[in-house]
Amino acid sequence: MFSFHSIKDYQSLLLNGKATCADAVSYYIKNIEQNRHLNAFLEVYKEEALERAAQLDAKRKAGDALGKLHGVIIGLKDVVSYRNHKLSAGSRILENFQAVYNATAVNRLLEEDAVIIGRQNCDEFAMGSSNENSAYGNVLNAADNARVPGGSSGGSAVGVQAKLCMISLGSDTGGSVRQPADFCGVVGLKPSYGRVSRYGLIAYASSFDQIGIFANSVEDAGIVLEVISGKDEFDSTATGNAFQFHYSPVKSGFKIGYFPVTFNHPGLDPEIAATQKKFIASLREEGLEVSQIEFDLLDYIVPAYYILTTAEASSNLARYDGLKYGAQQPATDLNEQIHLTRSRFFGKEVQRRIMLGTFVLSEGYYEAYIMQAQKVRRILLEKIKKIFTEVDAIILPVSPTTAFRIGEKSNDPIAMFLADIYTVFANLTGIPAISIPLFKHSNGMPFGLQVMASHSNELALLSIAEYLMEINKTANQPVSV
Ligand code: GLN
Repeated sequence: MFSFHSIKDYQSLLLNGKATCADAVSYYIKNIEQNRHLNAFLEVYKEEALERAAQLDAKRKAGDALGKLHGVIIGLKDVVSYRNHKLSAGSRILENFQAVYNATAVNRLLEEDAVIIGRQNCDEFAMGSSNENSAYGNVLNAADNARVPGGSSGGSAVGVQAKLCMISLGSDTGGSVRQPADFCGVVGLKPSYGRVSRYGLIAYASSFDQIGIFANSVEDAGIVLEVISGKDEFDSTATGNAFQFHYSPVKSGFKIGYFPVTFNHPGLDPEIAATQKKFIASLREEGLEVSQIEFDLLDYIVPAYYILTTAEASSNLARYDGLKYGAQQPATDLNEQIHLTRSRFFGKEVQRRIMLGTFVLSEGYYEAYIMQAQKVRRILLEKIKKIFTEVDAIILPVSPTTAFRIGEKSNDPIAMFLADIYTVFANLTGIPAISIPLFKHSNGMPFGLQVMASHSNELALLSIAEYLMEINKTANQPVSV
């Protein structure tokens, strides 16, 4: 028996001969099998993972140089390519599709000795906030099986929450890593746009998509980001340097800002608001400089996000026509065949977004929607650049509520869209953001806080996030309103 809290802990046990990768893999596989009802994994690579673990144990015994993620057990959201493994984006249209190459992020994990344990359930094409849009069934929140895990990376969040793997890779286009992390009580990091290559990530909205990380701690997320980040000749937008992580929860010398409008929003659960406001007060008591920042654009960000992402999605998803790959509904007429294939194998939400995206892109509407949304995006970018000359980080809620009940919002797409109010900002502006699990609601569910920093400033982001987690242990208790 061995126990550990972090990647570093685990690796030092491996080095001291107190643990083996094989035992760790067996432990996680057993946990996955015992938690099948959560539906977090669509596929488990049992034999492969055990074989890989044995190779890694032998490598260590032989005294060879070890990778930074030596023995770390990782799950992949079903939108990240892993060569010769199924890749379906939670959709029937790709049900039997096999990836023909590795995502750059996956290559980098493997080069550093990680073990890939399986493919994780998600909303179809990463569109959703509850995992209810997966063609392969709901994922259940491990803290309360009647509740959603969040989305779209629901399986990846539950993977870490229920100890089915150490780390998961998800994708975050408008909050799909941070919101499920919040609903499940784990750390969820969305890096800066361009920090991690999107090569091998199935596209939803290319100017927003980023691969993100679920972890048990801020430190673990930083260690994984260091490995997967950096330039890539296969993605011209991956322009950021590799992130150099050094663990240093900063104690002072930074300024935090917040938008009062986000904490006073009528849609925010009163207990979440009260807890977070109390936490802000405790930061001031700690002697931190915490300032209020005026922000009058909150009402524009969800519409701008849904106009631009659906437009990009309608173009990205045009390739699923059943002709070259994926499911096909045969017909004698070509147009009819494409029509039938897309109507039959795309789910309702994906069809809704393709229609919406096609509409806003169409002649006569382009100026009214796309141009306006692009202006909002530009104004937000200018605003955020200015804000980050004054503060080092911004804190805000992650989601207006804790994990809701399965079925509670599935017939109300607008309510589901509006709940993205706090997360889409970072994707519209490309800045890094993290959700950290700090609190527990009186309904028994976890929730946290979101921290955002300026573009490419993940080091400040992680250091401040870690410090906030440390403060909370001592200074803050959950409140019941
Ligand atoms: N909930 C958001 C949406 O449905 C976020 C999706 C994501 O980040 N992939 O678009």
